[in-house]
Amino acid sequence: MIDPFGRSISYLRVSVTDRCDFRCVYCMSEDMAFLPKAEILTLEELDRLSGAFIRLGVKKLRLTGGEPLVRKNIMHLFRSLGRHLQTGDLEELTLTTNGSQLAKYARDLKEAGVKRINVSLDTLDAQKFAAITRWGRFDQVMDGIRAAKSAGLQVKLNAVALKGVNDGEFDKLIGWCGEEGFDLTLIEVMPLGEVGSGTRVDQYLPLSMVRADLRKRWTLDESDYKTGGPARYYTVRETGQRLGLITPMTHNFCESCNRVRLTCTGTLYMCLGQEDAADLRAPLRASESDAPVEAAIRAAIDRKPKGHDFIIDRRHDRPAVARHMSVTGG
Ligand code: SAM
Ligand code: SF4
Repeated sequence: MIDPFGRSISYLRVSVTDRCDFRCVYCMSEDMAFLPKAEILTLEELDRLSGAFIRLGVKKLRLTGGEPLVRKNIMHLFRSLGRHLQTGDLEELTLTTNGSQLAKYARDLKEAGVKRINVSLDTLDAQKFAAITRWGRFDQVMDGIRAAKSAGLQVKLNAVALKGVNDGEFDKLIGWCGEEGFDLTLIEVMPLGEVGSGTRVDQYLPLSMVRADLRKRWTLDESDYKTGGPARYYTVRETGQRLGLITPMTHNFCESCNRVRLTCTGTLYMCLGQEDAADLRAPLRASESDAPVEAAIRAAIDRKPKGHDFIIDRRHDRPAVARHMSVTGG
């Protein structure tokens, strides 16, 4: 699949549920309204749709959410998708998780063929963690991370950089990840969805500033490491681990975008920062043949936009894109 700007689309992120056991302040409001169950694709439908993308050239599949591991019977989907790894049609199957269910599922994930996982953790301070996630339990996540490590999963931590919240902690996170053998990626807050807690202007911390500050204490060697995601990587010489920076706001990361995002209702977003989307549920359900849905996927890729235009609207404090991150899974 090649889009109008010559980018080859080989990476699909699938949000398998919009529900979550946390309510992170930058992601959800506390009283989120979730989709009615009838709207949501079954696991079999998600499997079939993912299979169509793989036939069309997707090599890397990431399950996300909401919290992917709170979806009932989610291991069925992992195991079923794992068969594409065995045939070699898929190169990587992975997930982004808040870690709360990892103690339960880490081994099963490994067995399904998952090698690397991203765990979102913004702080090592249990009180701050409770404030950021509202409903999360720090110890449960730590147990999950330990379980993942001992199951042999390679762990990368994702931390959203939040001004006045975790900006004094990056050294600690870098040091801890160094000790544990984890890579770390810092992410800028993106203006997606109403979250009803403070303002985006208050939360937003440009990573260009963070990097300049970190360089006073750490040696950040430029690295050409690529994961197929949007992060720019450095190797922290003192720890030997990688540090990724995802800077959608300060640097336009769209030129090399190889991704599209599927929601749990079968809506395909060709760009995280644009409203345009294609409904794949109707063509999927219309026929037992995959021809209609494959045609719909191709038509969608043919109108993938050049890039996002995120702007944190300082005058009105409105999100640039109305849907929440938990719809498309980041
Ligand atoms: N629940 C899982 C988790 O937290 O990892 C997967 C879904 S979550 C939406 C995926 C990632 O998006 C997390 O790393 C989260 O921190 C990040 N995220 C959520 N809202 C964001 C926002 N407004 N700006 C930047 N990143 C955000
Ligand atoms: Fe849930 Fe992940 Fe959003 Fe936090 S960032 S509320 S864990 S979906």
